Amino acid sequence: MAGEINNRKKAKFVYAFGACTDGDASMREILGGKGANLAEMALIGLPVPPGFTLSTEVCGYFYANSGNYPRGLEVAVSKAISEVEKQQNKGFGDPVNPLLFSVRSGARESMPGMMDTILNLGLNDSTVQGLAERTQDARFAWDCYRRFIQMYGEVVMGVHSRDDGEPDPFQQQLAGLMSEQKIDKDDQLSHSDLQELVRRYKRVIKQRCKKTFPQNVHEQLWGAIAAVFNSWKNERAILYRQRYGIPVEWGTAVNVQAMVFGNLGQTSGTGVAFTRDPATGEKTFYGEYLLNAQGEDVVAGIRTPKAISLLAEEMPRSFAELKKVRSRLERHFRDMQDFEFTIEDGRLYMLQTRNGKRTGLAAVRIAVEMNRERLMDRKTALLKIPAESIDSLLVPVFDKKAQQDAHRIGHGLAAGPGAASGRIVFSAFEAEREARLGNKVILVREETSPDDLRGMLLAQGILTARGGVSSHAALVARQLGKVCVCGASELAIDYVSRVLTIGGVMLKEGEYLSIDGSTGEIYAGMIETADSEVQRVLKGRLAPEKSATFGLYQTVMDMADKVRRMKVRTNADTPGMAKTAIAFGAEGIGLCRTEHMFFDGNRIDLMRQMILAADVEERRAALKKLMPFQRRDFQGLFRAMEGRPVTIRLLDPPLHEFLPHDDARRAELAQSLNVSTEYIIERFKALHEENPMLGCRGCRLGILHPEITEMQVRAIFEAAVALQKSKRPVIVKPEIMVPLVGFDAELRDQVAIVRAVADEVLTKAGIEVPYQVGTMIEVPRAAITADEIAETAEFFSFGTNDLTQTTLGLSRDDMGSFFDVYRDKEIYGHNPFASIDEAGVGRLMRTAIRGGRDKRSNLKLGICGEHAGDASSIAFCEELGLDYVSCSPPRVPVARLAAAQAVLRGN
Ligand code: PEP
Ligand code: MG
Repeated sequence: MAGEINNRKKAKFVYAFGACTDGDASMREILGGKGANLAEMALIGLPVPPGFTLSTEVCGYFYANSGNYPRGLEVAVSKAISEVEKQQNKGFGDPVNPLLFSVRSGARESMPGMMDTILNLGLNDSTVQGLAERTQDARFAWDCYRRFIQMYGEVVMGVHSRDDGEPDPFQQQLAGLMSEQKIDKDDQLSHSDLQELVRRYKRVIKQRCKKTFPQNVHEQLWGAIAAVFNSWKNERAILYRQRYGIPVEWGTAVNVQAMVFGNLGQTSGTGVAFTRDPATGEKTFYGEYLLNAQGEDVVAGIRTPKAISLLAEEMPRSFAELKKVRSRLERHFRDMQDFEFTIEDGRLYMLQTRNGKRTGLAAVRIAVEMNRERLMDRKTALLKIPAESIDSLLVPVFDKKAQQDAHRIGHGLAAGPGAASGRIVFSAFEAEREARLGNKVILVREETSPDDLRGMLLAQGILTARGGVSSHAALVARQLGKVCVCGASELAIDYVSRVLTIGGVMLKEGEYLSIDGSTGEIYAGMIETADSEVQRVLKGRLAPEKSATFGLYQTVMDMADKVRRMKVRTNADTPGMAKTAIAFGAEGIGLCRTEHMFFDGNRIDLMRQMILAADVEERRAALKKLMPFQRRDFQGLFRAMEGRPVTIRLLDPPLHEFLPHDDARRAELAQSLNVSTEYIIERFKALHEENPMLGCRGCRLGILHPEITEMQVRAIFEAAVALQKSKRPVIVKPEIMVPLVGFDAELRDQVAIVRAVADEVLTKAGIEVPYQVGTMIEVPRAAITADEIAETAEFFSFGTNDLTQTTLGLSRDDMGSFFDVYRDKEIYGHNPFASIDEAGVGRLMRTAIRGGRDKRSNLKLGICGEHAGDASSIAFCEELGLDYVSCSPPRVPVARLAAAQAVLRGN
């Protein structure tokens, strides 16, 4: 891309918005989301301060050419500046009537707070005088100047506190001056105090950077542009991109926009609003504002703003205008919008609009209701709901009784619905430490900054003392689907002693806290959670009409089911799991891991007896005792599935997983099996494997010990016969699946046993049970020789957990030690065990499908690895033409929606 730019004859790097807009919303790739929407707002006649966008192509060039810019850019920027100067009737760097700019990032997908922004650019020792004159407000001008120096010092010149815990150097100066002047709020600083602060800030920069703060406004601008491009690769942005699968190649655009001032006194203000409630999705005008403030004050959570409805009293004209803007934006963009506005001396300006981030619940409600209001067609409505968000209608809430009995200690703003309990942590660092120990945490902060993202990702919930519902904490929490209560003004945090105080209660870091993000309530201690409303309806414990959310859930699922092509099955081993999955809409079992059936009660002893058996006789004796349990389990499962297909996998895991690993437990086992400890130790030695994951597991078990396969198959068919002959007959459709096959000969060996035992049982019973025998595709050799394997297999199910493990040569249990480094260096792009590695594993899947279907055109194809519950992997399965995906029961609704979306995206 970078090279291309120079070769193009008339490459365009800079696009204007405002009176002479030359872009539009269809140009998101080039203009980024913010730039495209600014252009679009200008086009539909909304009041946008003029400015221009440096395209994402410039970002690509910048990175490919060591921070240099394409030829012609400087001239294009100069022209664009002149145009804005004309429109605003001000001059950039003009000491009498200065034009100031904001410089902001703007990627194709919005990444709130992750990249850098600079405001008030263009101020220097002389323009500050001009601004003071023009606005008749010297205090205001010097306040802007000190804010600009601080922002510029941090973002462009890299002045930060040192790692040794040193406080922020600018804050230190501010605090010092305030204490000298004996004041406790920065808005009490006088004009001359601010001048002094500017002097001190400049000194800080000189000392830290060995450079002076630049007075040349063009130098300022180019410094800011470079800083914004560079921030595309800062730690937060990388983390965010990984989380949301945003490709690094997209790059960011840079928007340079004429400043308008919300801090010109009580007739000015600034705010953030949503066209609908982003927490619940309800159609109410939602937002907040501050009088006499700049935009960053609202989102940074430093002051807690007022609810937008109050603006109706404080500035009725602007409020009426804003309400019109609200409906204009929705009608035009046909989605819920999150917009920023500034009122400069009574005049409204739109600074930005974008599709608003929202909770899962809100995503569902907005899509369903906008479809009803004909603002979205069905296809758009379905595609607008991130598949994961359906989960938020299913996640637990606090148990009502436990919540009533709990000790309520305070209240904040309900910003991210759901219920969360966990240990209190005050930092991302501590959150990481606790999470590593497997503990749940609630991140408690005065306010959050983008640097807290790592901690927020790990926390169950987030609680802040300051900031409103559009503060960074709330915004990010909603998007991450985290429970969040913000702006709990009574909450006092002492980061040094690591305690919080609220409602007269003091809690230390590590103690338990619970928050209800749907009501804003805060409780001391743990609170039990309970099923959500939708879950209660699905379990028959609540009438559908009594639930406010069930209708939304059902509408979305119905819409999805009408569209999707792939079936959705579930991975379940017990009747309970099967019933849950059916309630969620599962259409069959795609994987019953039979080994899980042996963990129950004293079956484990019989299983151990079978594993440790020294010869066939001993093994058969143990299997004979296991058989009735296994048969009963299958009966239960078949009955629960009520005639739906059930794929049963023959025994698969490395057998050591069933054996105790410490001496005391081994001695206990010896006693329960009535053998000597020495004998047990001997058998352990004989069974020891260096690498059990690649050892005697999968079909190798049944090949080595055919009696295991025999027992399992007998149990399956005897269960089927019993059910078919029972008073309440149930049709049974077993699909017997052989694991970890690499050679057709392996499969043939096992299929021969399956067919022989099935014949025997069914002939004796005198009934027919239609069944299929197939295999998992879990090792590369199976994928490569799929044509041979399909001679015997009637179906393939991709076991992508093992297929990923064996293709990447990467243990699924041991990647933790280096994954962080791989992720930070963006080597893997994403976790290959969470989303299919399409280039590698995916290519093997394609090979297997081609080979398999060439040999057997009606070969059934499914997937049962964990990837089957992951939306992007499901999209890939649709592309491959699989017949079904099989995921864990709670993922079934997500999979139904993702499967429908995959069809819609493919159309
Ligand atoms: C797989 O490997 O993808 C699979 C489903 O089997 P398991 O996870 O039980 O090894
Ligand atoms: Mg496997």
